[in-house]
Amino acid sequence: MTMLRAETRIALPDPAAVLRPLCEHMREHEAEVSEADGVTTIGFGESRAELTVEPGALSVVIEAPDLAQLQGSRFAIASHVVEFAPEGTAPAIHWSGDGAEPMLPPDFRVLSVTGVEQLTPHMRRIRFRGEDLARYDSLEALHVRLFIPPAGLAEPVWPMIGADGLLQTPPPEQRPAVRKYTIREIDAAAGTLAIDFVLHDDAGPGSAFAARVQLGDRIGMAGPGGRGLKQAQRYLFLADETGLPALARMLEHLPAGTSGLALVEIADAAERQSLTMPEGFSLRWLHRDGAAPGSTSLLTDALATLEWPAGEGSLYLWAACEHAAFREIRAAARQYLRAEVDAHLVVSYWRAGVSEEQHAAEKRKAA
Ligand SMILES: Cc1cc2nc3c(=O)[nH]c(=O)nc-3n(C[C@H](O)[C@H](O)[C@H](O)COP(=O)(O)OP(=O)(O)OC[C@H]3O[C@@H](n4cnc5c(N)ncnc54)[C@H](O)[C@@H]3O)c2cc1C
Repeated sequence: MTMLRAETRIALPDPAAVLRPLCEHMREHEAEVSEADGVTTIGFGESRAELTVEPGALSVVIEAPDLAQLQGSRFAIASHVVEFAPEGTAPAIHWSGDGAEPMLPPDFRVLSVTGVEQLTPHMRRIRFRGEDLARYDSLEALHVRLFIPPAGLAEPVWPMIGADGLLQTPPPEQRPAVRKYTIREIDAAAGTLAIDFVLHDDAGPGSAFAARVQLGDRIGMAGPGGRGLKQAQRYLFLADETGLPALARMLEHLPAGTSGLALVEIADAAERQSLTMPEGFSLRWLHRDGAAPGSTSLLTDALATLEWPAGEGSLYLWAACEHAAFREIRAAARQYLRAEVDAHLVVSYWRAGVSEEQHAAEKRKAA
């Protein structure tokens, strides 16, 4: 296999003092770290970095089978050298060799809009075309981060990996807003995918983009991430509109004969969609009928009334909804459903009254 190669020599007052914590950190993250003849080798999957302490500098050589892995390893080394360098110093890093010119991050794609379909009054499906989509075509990881350029910007500006191997974000006035969405449909061979956007009041960048979208508009996409469909004999799904795209995609891929129940909170009957699911699977729509999204206990009330026959095979509970319902469902899953539920994944997809940035910051704090 032909390997790509990148190298750098980073001036540091005490390079050994940076290399030590860097190696410890890599070991904690299950990278293979070894040392022989004064050369430290760190293995990242199929790529390998060799680090040598020289007087006043750390010399690094990376070999990787492709550009994505080369970039990933360069980023891992460069970002941790910066992190472990003495406070107040900013090590200058400049890679030479393959992939040294600024480029998009390896998991980043530019998508252009090819179609818009109004599924229901508040759900809009947007179809996109992009290149090299194979990594996003997985039921193990359904979600992506969308990078939505500010409205009215003539030419979108994307985050780039710079010559130092680090991520460079665009200046604030050009910086895309980042929002999490679910890939509803994907055909990687054809280079197409679809995402279903909830059109909601108090629209932030995600909902506003969906409302104003024009054919040919471009957004960025990074990922995929999140946990996907887990194998079980029975399923209990709970979702509001934001969890509906993930639920619908999972239902479509359940093996025939799988049993279970999906509870879906929507505004009213006009928001119902026709979903494909195994025969014998039940779907119950719960209507807010005029109440604001995120203000009802429809999902938790329905959950509290369920009776599950014991001993009928493993049960997996999956829920994605507004934060208040998420808390109730998670508590129920941990307490009174513990005996029946073999595994669960309960996720807060949005929080009433706060933007996704604030919501994500709160989640990080709680974690
Ligand atoms: C893993 C994951 C996958 C997701 N997948 C999807 C998806 O496929 N489709 C989808 O539409 N959403 C999805 N979401 C939810 C979506 O990311 C949030 O709703 C997000 O806040 C929308 O961003 P925004 O820019 O429109 O609003 P923000 O700027 O984040 O918020 C602005 C205001 O709108 C309110 N708000 C946000 N969402 C809603 C809503 N649904 N109803 C009413 N008010 C709201 C906020 O509370 C805030 O007051 C997903 C979230 C996660 C974590």
